[in-house]
Amino acid sequence: MTGPAYHDLPGASQDRTTQAQGRLAAPPVPLVGDGIPVPCADGAERPYLSLDAAASTAALGPVLARVEEFLPWYSSIHRGAGYKSQVATWDYENARSAALAFAGRSSGASRAGGDVAIICRNTTEALNHLAYRLRLAPGDVVVTTVAEHHANLLPWSRAATCRYVECGRDGTFGVTDVGAALDKRPAPRLLAITGASNITGWMPPLDGIIAAAHDRGVPVVVDAAQLAPHRPLPAEADFLAWSGHKMYAPFGAGVLVGPRAAFADGDPFLAGGGAVDLVDLDEVLWTAPPEREEAGSPNVIGAVALQASIDTLTGIGWNALISHERRIAHALRHGLASIPGVCLLGPGPDAGTLPVAAFTVDGVPHALVAARLAAEEAIGVRHGCFCAHPYLMRLLGHTRGDVHRYREQVRRGDRSAMPGAVRASAGINTTGDDIQRLLAAVARIASGNPPPVPYRQDPRTGDFRPCGDAAGLGRPDSHQAPCSPG
Ligand code: PLP
Repeated sequence: MTGPAYHDLPGASQDRTTQAQGRLAAPPVPLVGDGIPVPCADGAERPYLSLDAAASTAALGPVLARVEEFLPWYSSIHRGAGYKSQVATWDYENARSAALAFAGRSSGASRAGGDVAIICRNTTEALNHLAYRLRLAPGDVVVTTVAEHHANLLPWSRAATCRYVECGRDGTFGVTDVGAALDKRPAPRLLAITGASNITGWMPPLDGIIAAAHDRGVPVVVDAAQLAPHRPLPAEADFLAWSGHKMYAPFGAGVLVGPRAAFADGDPFLAGGGAVDLVDLDEVLWTAPPEREEAGSPNVIGAVALQASIDTLTGIGWNALISHERRIAHALRHGLASIPGVCLLGPGPDAGTLPVAAFTVDGVPHALVAARLAAEEAIGVRHGCFCAHPYLMRLLGHTRGDVHRYREQVRRGDRSAMPGAVRASAGINTTGDDIQRLLAAVARIASGNPPPVPYRQDPRTGDFRPCGDAAGLGRPDSHQAPCSPG
């Protein structure tokens, strides 16, 4: 790439954006590394199929291309005087504006003082950042729900008193359930709610919920970690948090969006260089947000990657993305629900969820299902409790007594009977054939036929691994595990 002339600096990034968009196609859109062959327990290699998008995604091609294009221009930003520093600063600030636009707001227009996008590591950091910045007192009430990921539970329960919206047996709740929690006294300071569950893919009726909170004068933070790659973000939410690595930009950047005024006073979450205007040994003059909230050297590459992902998804368009993912969700959830011995957790297969499905297989531990999918079929899924323990216990129908028993076992270092489920989650790259491959594999496991290779469980982790000759699977760090029957 030839560098832009000084007077052309503002155009440089836009030119590259256009190039990235020129490579767009309708979904399914392959991701970097799709189909790479991996070793299986029978000694064969099979193309790897990732169905773990809800945990993290590989990069979109245009994201990788944009990062490679930018790397020769990488330099220190903000206070660097050199030409490259100015290019890099321009691109970083452009990424910030793109994040704001992606969240449905501009830096000046939407509310008094406008909104800011704070570039951070991920959703977890963004929510912890916000919990610190809101200066909650232990007696303040935050309304949240039992369907949250721990990232949207623990920061609030540590800083304040949580009031939880319960869910039904199918893992859902409605606007009136949230309204009832908001109406209890003392009045809450905040509603913290997920945009979509990472276990069931269910999306709470956010528009009505946000309106109900605003009617009562309660601001809302939406954990958009799962929503961001799949649906437009709710522009009415006061605060939003999401992660680049779940939307095809795995370069370590996430975003916290909120009103500038919320960050205008008080100490920032992180104190250090870049967040200040002037420091004397006994006095600090913090600078204005968003820089006030971004102490330390920022993740410029992550921000550039995030913008490339935003540009690519925007270029593809929500209509194309949503209709593709609806087809995938339908095939996945109906397909699993129709396999004898498989139980789909959460709302029914027609509930209009994201392409995510958590399930159990009668008589086969969740850890063994996941291990067999990996070792026999080269399919990568996730199993366990998905960092949303309260929600999963409800979906599985476990009582408080059950949970107490499990806790005691874990305290003794034994995770062999940990409750859990298997989760398959898809994205922009998933094809109908991918889903059929998963369904056929799950049907083989659910059929009750013994596995073609023996497996051994490590009670410390609860994980299963094939043993004997199949144990290595080509992994450099693996050792041959002695095999015990069963
Ligand atoms: N919120 C939800 C709903 C999630 O699914 C996740 C991760 O799986 C998080 C928050 C935390 O995201 P991160 O690990 O990027 O901080």
